[in-house]
Amino acid sequence: MKAPKDADRAVRTVGIVGAGAMGGGIAQVAAETGFDVLLYDVEERLLERALSGISRNMDRRKARDGPGADEKKTALARIRPAPDLSDLRAADFVIEAVVENLREKSEIFRKLNAIAPAGVVLASNTSSIPIASLGEASGRPDLVIGMHFMNPAPVMALVEVIRSPATSERALERTMELARDMGKTPIDVNDSPGFVSNRILIPMINEAVYCLMENVAAPEAIDSIMKLGMKHPIGPLALADLIGLDVCLDIMEVLHAGLGDSKYRPCPLLREMVESGRLGRKSGRGFYEYPPRGPA
Ligand code: NAD
Repeated sequence: MKAPKDADRAVRTVGIVGAGAMGGGIAQVAAETGFDVLLYDVEERLLERALSGISRNMDRRKARDGPGADEKKTALARIRPAPDLSDLRAADFVIEAVVENLREKSEIFRKLNAIAPAGVVLASNTSSIPIASLGEASGRPDLVIGMHFMNPAPVMALVEVIRSPATSERALERTMELARDMGKTPIDVNDSPGFVSNRILIPMINEAVYCLMENVAAPEAIDSIMKLGMKHPIGPLALADLIGLDVCLDIMEVLHAGLGDSKYRPCPLLREMVESGRLGRKSGRGFYEYPPRGPA
């Protein structure tokens, strides 16, 4: 996982927009692999929360393959909070990881185009939004690409790299190289709703929610069947809680609208749970209960 800082790297400083579950995880991976990181979110409080989350994650992984105390200090020092989006002008590559909303993301890409120097690639960690739309919003479509990390980013090997018809070879190469330098395995796919990972994964989760709604089995039984019978490391309902039920619903909506097939209709129970604020781990309650964590 760890790579030494390499003088030949084209990218030295990674700018990250959005310091939530994914942005924080990506910042951790980048810092642990020797990149300087500029991390931006809408409020400084959220940046502080992200930094203490990263520090906790590093401690948790220390016992396994994570960094030692010195390495942790060095990696953490590489992450600089950016109080303003315009601070990301010092980045050689930008990864956007804000909420899964086309309007929000488009606005950020529009602003980033004015901030980032010419030639800088603007990547999105979107789970499902067409890269072509973000490219269009940015005004530099040849340099806009999908860089879809899996959750949790520090643990998962895959980065799904999504090229729109307008994405240049140069942007693709730079993104593949950055993912490899971050210790990941990039796989490139074409732009299509949900790409490959979520086009397959999220309908499976949606079907598990139908099984629950139609009382085919209890949540624990559904998850155990997929773990013991299909060798999945985590059941679909527990995974939905980890991803966030709101994120799962957003992706089903994108698949339904984008592919125009009724087989992608979101399960009414999923919609109901999101509307009632049961979002999974992040809200303390989804298909399972999550007691609040103590102070760091
Ligand atoms: P999250 O809700 O944990 O974090 C989103 C962060 O974006 C928040 O900190 C929020 O304050 C910030 N934000 C919102 N608007 C902003 C703006 N205008 N400028 C700067 N920051 C802003 O969400 P997440 O789970 O980290 O997801 C982020 C992205 O990653 C989404 O596009 C999601 O689809 C994608 N993704 C999520 C997962 C997952 O399992 N959760 C996996 C892969 C990809």
